[in-house]
Amino acid sequence: MKVELTNYTDSPVESAGRAAGICYDKEEKEDYASFIKGIVGRGHESVIEHVVFTFRVEDVSRALTHQLVRHRLASYSQRSQRYVDEGEFGYVVPPSIQESQEAEAKFKEAMDYALDRYDELKAMNVPKEDARFVLPNACHTRIVVTMNARSLRNFLKVRMEKHAQWEIRQLAQRMYDLVYAVAPPLFEDLRTLRDSGSES
Ligand SMILES: Cc1cc2nc3c(=O)[nH]c(=O)nc-3n(C[C@H](O)[C@H](O)[C@H](O)COP(=O)(O)OP(=O)(O)OC[C@H]3O[C@@H](n4cnc5c(N)ncnc54)[C@H](O)[C@@H]3O)c2cc1C
Repeated sequence: MKVELTNYTDSPVESAGRAAGICYDKEEKEDYASFIKGIVGRGHESVIEHVVFTFRVEDVSRALTHQLVRHRLASYSQRSQRYVDEGEFGYVVPPSIQESQEAEAKFKEAMDYALDRYDELKAMNVPKEDARFVLPNACHTRIVVTMNARSLRNFLKVRMEKHAQWEIRQLAQRMYDLVYAVAPPLFEDLRTLRDSGSES
C-alpha cells in the first residue's frame, strides 16, 4: 500500500480558524491551534469543512476501495477496469493467508487462474469491461480521494476503530499520520484511537 498526501488547503489550521472566527467577528487570532481544538471539541465542525485534503492511494485491493467509496462526502477518481488492461494485475495477499504456505499457494493458484481466464476472454474479443468480471477483489487498484476535514474525521473515527477491516484500517492510519503531520489541532483528539490499533 502506498499513500501520499498530494494536496491540501494552505495553512489548514489558520484557514479553519479564520472561517470560525467570522462567526464571532474575530478573524485575527494569536493562537489558531487552541481556538480550533476548542471549536472541534464543542462539535462546531462545519468550520473545518473549508479545509480539504487530497490523497493518492496505490496498491490497495478493490475490496478496500469498495468500502472506501461508501464514504459519500468525498470525491474520488479510480483507475478504470473498463479502459485499462488488467493483464498481469498485482494483488493484495491478506496476512491470514500469508501465515500459511498452503493457504498462500491456494490463493496464488486462484489469482493465476483468474488472470488466465481474463486473458483468454480478451483473446476471444470479449471487451475488457466484460472480461474483468472474472477479476478478484484482491486486484490492485489506485485511487485519488479528496475529503474535507470534517468528512475525513468521520472516516478516521470509523475506519481506525478496531472493528474496521484490517486493510482499510491500515489506510486510515496512514492517512491519519499524513494529516496529523500538517494539521495536528484538527486531529489531536483522534490520536488515542490511532494508537490503539496494530501498526500500519
Ligand atoms: C466496521 C464497519 C462495518 C461496516 N459494515 C457494513 C456492512 O456490512 N454493510 C454495508 O452496507 N456497509 C457497512 N459499512 C459501511 C457503513 O455503513 C457506511 O456506509 C460507511 O462507513 C460510510 O459512513 P458514513 O455514511 O458515515 O459516511 P459518509 O457517506 O461520508 O457520510 C458522512 C456523514 O454524513 C451524514 N449523512 C450522509 N448521508 C446521509 C443520509 N443519506 N442521511 C442522513 N445522514 C447522512 C451522516 O452523518 C454520515 O455519518 C461498515 C462500516 C464500518 C466502519
